[in-house]
Amino acid sequence: MPGLNPPTGPDRGVTYWCEMAWLPPGEVVECVSVRVEGTRIAAVQPEVPPPPGATRLAGLTLPGLANAHSHAFHRALRGHTQAERGTFWTWREQMYAVAAGLDPDRYLALARATFAEMSLAGVTCVGEFHYLHHGPGGVRYDDPNAMGHALIEAARQAGLRIALLDTCYLTGAIGYPLAGTQLRFGDGDAHRWADRVETLGRSLREAHDVVVGAAIHSVRAVPPEQMCVVAEFANRHATPLHAHVSEQRAENHDCVQAYSATPVQLLHEHGALGPRSTAVHATHLSEVDVALLGGSTTHVCMCPTTERDLADGIGPARALLDGGSPITLGSDSHAVIDLFEEARAVELDERLATRKRGHFRAAELLDAATAAGHASLGFPDAGLLVPGAWADLVSVRLDSVRTAGTTKGAAAETVVFAATAGDVHSVVSGGRRVVEEGRHVLGDVGALLRDAVAEVRG
Ligand SMILES: [Zn+2]
Repeated sequence: MPGLNPPTGPDRGVTYWCEMAWLPPGEVVECVSVRVEGTRIAAVQPEVPPPPGATRLAGLTLPGLANAHSHAFHRALRGHTQAERGTFWTWREQMYAVAAGLDPDRYLALARATFAEMSLAGVTCVGEFHYLHHGPGGVRYDDPNAMGHALIEAARQAGLRIALLDTCYLTGAIGYPLAGTQLRFGDGDAHRWADRVETLGRSLREAHDVVVGAAIHSVRAVPPEQMCVVAEFANRHATPLHAHVSEQRAENHDCVQAYSATPVQLLHEHGALGPRSTAVHATHLSEVDVALLGGSTTHVCMCPTTERDLADGIGPARALLDGGSPITLGSDSHAVIDLFEEARAVELDERLATRKRGHFRAAELLDAATAAGHASLGFPDAGLLVPGAWADLVSVRLDSVRTAGTTKGAAAETVVFAATAGDVHSVVSGGRRVVEEGRHVLGDVGALLRDAVAEVRG
């Protein structure tokens, strides 16, 4: 299958010329030349004519988008879960049924197709919150990191960098052991989790396109005395530490009952907050929670399309940013994969909640989708069109039916509030051109998704 060959190595010495580009400190500039050498940007020159031999990029060129929270296999649920009524908890049963059908080969195929969909949407780095570690019944594969390696290989073939956020998942609920499909998530205790992740990290020490990070699934799945071990691991390796936090009110209730503390307080007390940490969702927070997250400059990853799909609620995004927490974005369950939709939903949800407009500027939302997201995944040198940064260039059409009629002065607002993933026509990721004229190097990504989902769902 020639379309499935991995892309070749980075182009060396290529110059792109952008009709418009999004440059620091957050403005649209016309006629921008970007010189790429290897995987990095070598030079950026605004307001210059096209250099001879340069590749022209139409529309508005952004830095690469970072999808800071993903569970790749949830892509197999899309559409199939929309007929049900119910709650997050009834949806979770369907999610477990899909997880039960995965092995390393099927996961590679499904994740490759899902990551290729992300790439077509302009994503150049994914934070994969990975907890499906073991075989049925919790039996380890010959390589206990076989599933993690499948995800890393999938990202490479699809042309993305990956932060593999290897997730500690030990209990089914507070005080309850793992059961059924959950047995595949568990390592027994946090020390055994850490030993496995150490091995994975050692095998990838030379890989610049992969960050092996840590994750605490949630206060439901990791008891406090085990949290310390995961936090200590992340500190020792200076690597990202992510956790699902207060997605559901029931989680807060159970946590307060058991520990007389909210999930944020519990994470704070056990060393899990800080500038390398990310609280995912952070939907149902107290003022104290907001202050603890902001005071520790913990990132907050909002996943609005999932949060609305699962009827979770609306998190206090503006208060969190004002308090000191950088906002990032994730497509999480992949009900849709469109970072522009996630970005505008942060503002539009806040409008519905407050009945006022204008909480976030387009520049702030683009920062969440780019530089802040990459930083939260352990790639602080990505997400900006500046010399020395990863060479990620995402070009968005400004002549589609959704975006036509804009001007330089309104281009950023047009992209954030009206463009879709389908308006991305070109993606350069780590110096590689992985999307050209809306076509991915892997070929027909729709067919890849169809086949991979059918294989998993049976
Ligand atoms: Zn999640």
